[in-house]
Amino acid sequence: MTKERGKENGGGSEGLDIDLDALRDKYREERDKRRRDDGIEQFIEIAGDYAHFEQDPWVDGDLEREAVVEDVDVAVVGGGFGGLLTGARLRQQGVEDLRIIEKGGDVGGTWYWNRYPGVACDVESYVYLPLIEEVGTIPTEKYSRGAEIFEHSRALARKFDLYRGALFRTEVTEVRWDEALGRWIVKTDRGDVLRARFVCMAIGFLEKPKLPGIPGIEDFEGTSFHTSRWDYAYTGGDANGDLSGLHDKVVGVVGTGASAVQCVPHLGANAQHLYVFQRTPAGVDVRDNRPTDFDWLKSQAPGWQQRRIDNFHTLTTGGYEEPDLVGDRWTDVPRRIREVIAATGKDSLSPEELEQIAVRMDFEKMEEIRTHIANVVTDPATAEALKPWYRQFCKRPCFHDDYLPTFNRPNVSLVDTQGRGVERITKKGVIANGREFSLDCLVFATGFEVATEFARRAGYETIGRNGLTLTEKWRDRYRTFHGLHVHGFPNCFVMSLSQSGFSLNFAYLMDIQARQIAYVISETLARGASTVEASEEAEAEWCAEIAKRGEAFDPTFAEQCTPSYYNDEGKPDAKSLDRNFFIGEPTEFAELLAAWREEGRLRGLALR
Ligand code: NDP
Repeated sequence: MTKERGKENGGGSEGLDIDLDALRDKYREERDKRRRDDGIEQFIEIAGDYAHFEQDPWVDGDLEREAVVEDVDVAVVGGGFGGLLTGARLRQQGVEDLRIIEKGGDVGGTWYWNRYPGVACDVESYVYLPLIEEVGTIPTEKYSRGAEIFEHSRALARKFDLYRGALFRTEVTEVRWDEALGRWIVKTDRGDVLRARFVCMAIGFLEKPKLPGIPGIEDFEGTSFHTSRWDYAYTGGDANGDLSGLHDKVVGVVGTGASAVQCVPHLGANAQHLYVFQRTPAGVDVRDNRPTDFDWLKSQAPGWQQRRIDNFHTLTTGGYEEPDLVGDRWTDVPRRIREVIAATGKDSLSPEELEQIAVRMDFEKMEEIRTHIANVVTDPATAEALKPWYRQFCKRPCFHDDYLPTFNRPNVSLVDTQGRGVERITKKGVIANGREFSLDCLVFATGFEVATEFARRAGYETIGRNGLTLTEKWRDRYRTFHGLHVHGFPNCFVMSLSQSGFSLNFAYLMDIQARQIAYVISETLARGASTVEASEEAEAEWCAEIAKRGEAFDPTFAEQCTPSYYNDEGKPDAKSLDRNFFIGEPTEFAELLAAWREEGRLRGLALR
């Protein structure tokens, strides 16, 4: 769609020669193919008969240990970046008595579980890896591989002494408030009973794997697993590839999101034949990884990481800052927007003019991605099927340099389902587009639960004052104060994406939350109070603020988007708006919390 020049009123393109109206029609048409009534209900919860999909492949043998029954100041549920940052910030505030409780055999969270071939982070390592100046980690590449990030998680735990008291391979089964004790009773599947003054739920933003609800999924007799629980015993090799066990195997992968984009090149390089079953193509931009320039890194003045983190965050959330320190494809569109604004020669532009420029840059970016696909993928039909037809942030953008060329291999076939997905799974393989594909191995690159109930994702219920559960509390409306506190749940902190700030860099957001939690806990202790709890009014005000900001944001954007976990699979429920981010200027959420701390009144919280 690059023949006609765009029409001005629709945001005519001055750069690439593209027809925006025709593109909008195409986007709508592609979205409509993918809309379905079941929304997030289309996925299967990994539990019961499917529980083996969630088993930990990274531990050996049984763990025998005595149950821990004791008092503790802070129980931190989860040992990923959220739990580690909370632990680190608490230790910095002088809170020593804390325990991490973690389902996995080590810290690391996402980077503990996800060890699939090619696993890496496509957010720059120097902004993604938390506290690298404090820990002394030197990322070896601009985009770190999973093993390096996992190792950094371990280094974080060592640096802040978070292995002390940590309970691994331990699942929390219940968290219940004991009013008489003024403590949370945290029970686990190993018989532990921790009486905790405070409990921090750092269960992860994308933690619980999900399976597609494809009929017959339980019938498959070959080997199948989810990307986050890779079966190297079957495939051979490791996260660097060399999957020798697949040389004589026909492999299928369901899903083409960020995880698939990273593992497909390795599957393609090793399987006898690989079928990639695609429902919606990913928007795959150039990554251009490179080794760290150690001289550059050493020359950075103290505090450089936070400056770089803030710079990346600002540029990727609608703000403007010079220079663009990260300078990659995440910051590409914002950089171009700045250039176009500068080229207008005007001192200021109206919000409508700014919006028009942003929209045009988005359409141009996606057109570039499609052109890139056509240039890389040699078979025209395959190239056409790999083209994404939606705005850049309708789905999580991907960045990879080996994904697209993989489709030029003779042993790799793209099975594009035109938005319908896989129809059925059989004993022998997969039926898509009316044809059965026989497979030895089926990999589910089908992502993680996002909008399901908190208790379902956490794996345990939280029971607050007067026996009220979090599930009941949030049954009709999602309600928090600052995205962290919940009225009726004193001394409890929930780290999540809902009603909190927004960042493409989850580690950035988790650190903001961790600092806030550490401040509130240390202040509560320092002020000699035994409980801290959000008032009902503060909670209501915060929810109203989230709603007001959500309404001011283009309400049609998510609607116009092709389904994904970003828009609750295209079928938002009554609570979707409630669960919105705090929408504002890039640094507004962090500044709001910092100013709140500065004020020192713990406004909105009641200390007793
Ligand atoms: P996603 O949710 O992004 O992708 C799931 C995939 O499964 C989609 O392509 C989806 O298709 C497909 N799918 C679901 N059901 C079916 C079906 N019935 N038939 C066919 N296909 C189906 O999961 P990922 O694990 O890829 O990524 C999750 C998130 O993890 C990312 O968005 C990112 O935030 C994070 N991540 C980050 C990385 C990084 O580098 N920092 C790397 C990897 C993951 P459809 O699009 O049509 O819904």
